[in-house]
Amino acid sequence: MSTESTIKQRTGGAPHSALARLAGLMALTVFSGGTAHGQNPSSDVEYGYIIKAREAAAEDLHREFYHRCFIDANYPDTIASYRKTATPIEPAKVFDNLYFTSDGDNTVWILRTSEGFIVFDSFNNPAEALEFVGGGMTKLGLDPGQIKYVVITHEHADHFGGSKYLKEKYGARLMASEPAWQTMAAEKRPRVAYAPARDMVIADGQRLTLGDTTVTFYLTPGHSAGSISAIFNVKDNGVPHVVGFMGGMGSPNNEAGRNQIIKSYARWQTLTANAGVDALIANHSAQDNAIDKVEFLRVRRPGAFNPLVVGADRYRRYFEIQKECTRARLARNGQKIDQ
Ligand SMILES: [Zn+2]
Repeated sequence: MSTESTIKQRTGGAPHSALARLAGLMALTVFSGGTAHGQNPSSDVEYGYIIKAREAAAEDLHREFYHRCFIDANYPDTIASYRKTATPIEPAKVFDNLYFTSDGDNTVWILRTSEGFIVFDSFNNPAEALEFVGGGMTKLGLDPGQIKYVVITHEHADHFGGSKYLKEKYGARLMASEPAWQTMAAEKRPRVAYAPARDMVIADGQRLTLGDTTVTFYLTPGHSAGSISAIFNVKDNGVPHVVGFMGGMGSPNNEAGRNQIIKSYARWQTLTANAGVDALIANHSAQDNAIDKVEFLRVRRPGAFNPLVVGADRYRRYFEIQKECTRARLARNGQKIDQ
């Protein structure tokens, strides 16, 4: 109603002052653009966290800062749907013993050991597991029949959907946290068709050793109650590195989840620092820019850097961004910030 009266005033031909015109423009801005994020003045508290995140981003993590503070917060579906419609992405070897396969949005990481493979996540459904896990491994010259474990990072269908199939087809054992198993057991139609039956339970600090490789798991709730994360060793042309893989990083949409993930981020920073983590991967390419980095790895010359190796300082600052942007969202929504 105010917008309408402002337009009448501005188009009525009556002489009016610059101040009146300004007031009219302001009214237009407020009433026509109230839902556009960029037009709302940020609160000082929210802005303070955004600036902290920007400082943590320094000169090398701009994209991560903008993603977590704004794009993921304001347009949660944009990236996934965009990526899903993109040209199919070929699987790739990213370390001597780690492989990438993607449906364009989700990444499944395949860890090769001396006694078979540990696969992290399984895409949305059996068809995707067949195409991107089984098919992807075959393209890479790997035998999917040697998949020994499928680790379900958390209880969302885009991660567990193909796991039941991988167990039936290849005899893989499935691993998930207790809260994840409980949630998957309660799945409703249509996803219940893909929900795997309870198998191995991941506890906090638990180690899984397969042949020459050990993976250490931690419970990192927040994105979901049952989210887990993993630390393991890789080699890049023979040079050892330590991967830190946080298994659930999408921003929770409620106050409790946001505060919980801030705690998990803080703990993860300590755990990864103590473990000497220097390589960053995630299970959605929007979070670690894996697709971009894999494209570089396809053309990389011997001795050149591996973009998944970010170093300890950048790794820590990456999670500083996650924490501060999550606090900014709590502030934006007038929610309590525990720490
Ligand atoms: Zn999820």
